[in-house]
Amino acid sequence: MIETHPDRGLAVTGGLVLVRADGAFVARRACDIAVSNGRIQSLHDSGTWQIPESWERIDASGHLVTPGFVNLHSHGTDTPYTRGVLEDAGSPSLGESPLYEHLPAVRAAIRPADELAATELSFVERIRSGITTSVEMTYFTEVQSRGSLDVVEEIVKTARSRGWRMIIAPRYKSADWVTDGRSLDYRWYSDEGFTRFSECLDFLDSLNTGENDLVQPMLAPAQIDTCTERLLQTTTEEARRRGWKVQLHAGQSEKEFFSMLERNGKTPLEWLDHIGCLTPDMILGHGVHLSHHSRVQHDDGSDLGRIGAAGAAVAHCPVVNGRKGRLLESLPRYLDAGIRVGLGTDTYPQDMLNEMRIAAMFGKAASQTSRRPTAADVLSAATWAGADILGRPDLGRIEEGCRADLVLWKLSAAANVPTRDVVKSLVYSQPHASADTVLIDGRAVLRNGRMAGVDEDALAARIQELAEGVWARMGELGRLAPLEAEVV
Ligand SMILES: [Zn+2]
Repeated sequence: MIETHPDRGLAVTGGLVLVRADGAFVARRACDIAVSNGRIQSLHDSGTWQIPESWERIDASGHLVTPGFVNLHSHGTDTPYTRGVLEDAGSPSLGESPLYEHLPAVRAAIRPADELAATELSFVERIRSGITTSVEMTYFTEVQSRGSLDVVEEIVKTARSRGWRMIIAPRYKSADWVTDGRSLDYRWYSDEGFTRFSECLDFLDSLNTGENDLVQPMLAPAQIDTCTERLLQTTTEEARRRGWKVQLHAGQSEKEFFSMLERNGKTPLEWLDHIGCLTPDMILGHGVHLSHHSRVQHDDGSDLGRIGAAGAAVAHCPVVNGRKGRLLESLPRYLDAGIRVGLGTDTYPQDMLNEMRIAAMFGKAASQTSRRPTAADVLSAATWAGADILGRPDLGRIEEGCRADLVLWKLSAAANVPTRDVVKSLVYSQPHASADTVLIDGRAVLRNGRMAGVDEDALAARIQELAEGVWARMGELGRLAPLEAEVV
């Protein structure tokens, strides 16, 4: 299934290789990358070293070679079924977000088997856009605290067998959202979600992930407004004990902000800090509606200062927020506040090229300047900065000793001609799903445009069939009846 055999050595030869020097991206011409045991062993000017006879070679001439992208926030288990449901929707009373009505309606109709197929399709889509690491926040355990972790186990098995790198983060929480389409309320579980939390923790402990495992664990309490103080504090403590990271959706909507302000007399981030959970291990999913945001106007930036001072990070997902009519205000402002920012695709398209492009443009629009964020700023967020947030300085860069997660992009593609500034071309011009070859740990999961071990036509047909079942069940469940099984 996997075409290359990194254990016997691999040379990726003659590419235009994107490295970093003194903190900036530099394209190194005619560069060979020597890979051994899944790691980058050394970089050489082509023709200046002897490639061992037994090594496999990948000819990268005519290609830009970049580090694989780090997708800091994704939900592959349901994303394919939400296409066509979440757009152009959202009640004005609920911050114009489809989060509280449309998304739960789809999720309630999805079965475990649907999730596994959706995750496979999601990885195909991501790899084709150069993503080699995904934080996969499964949700099945979140819905009313029901659901089995069996599907998560299957997802982990699939990732390992296909050679896909994944940070697995099964979610849990203490409450469900309840809404009539106008107001938002919470239905709290009697056990605060601790039963499910313990199951997730046991599951992650049982993964036995070694240093070389493609799959690594992360704790993921679902949302800042649906978790109790005790659940978040226990999460923080258990993560610290194990050296794991935590990801929590926060700052998703103005509804969340005002609900929590009323509940605690503090902004959501002020509360998180107050209870001791805003730590360097904490990754805030979205982090948009903070105290300075124009939809909130609580103050002029205390939450930003708080996150920066705590050393916490933000998983910025500009596309999904843009679809809701909301901007992060603004990426340069977050960076200036000392906040570590990575990028995530969240829903769809699961395309980091698109995410970088929109992050650059929305960041400029929100700051009303053409100068920042630069292409290098957003490429940094999608590569080494995202990796550092995960505590993985061996990812997101092409350096000796780092994992050989590499992407080859054809330089002769029309959108890339002429070659001048490859970082700007990659961010502003590179077409969707255009990676030519993708290596994870030195193994080719995509080779010359062909996915290893996946029949994409068959998978697409299966997802279409499963999706029609999901949409039909949404109707049967009486959820969003106007959308029921609607194929247009
Ligand atoms: Zn999310």
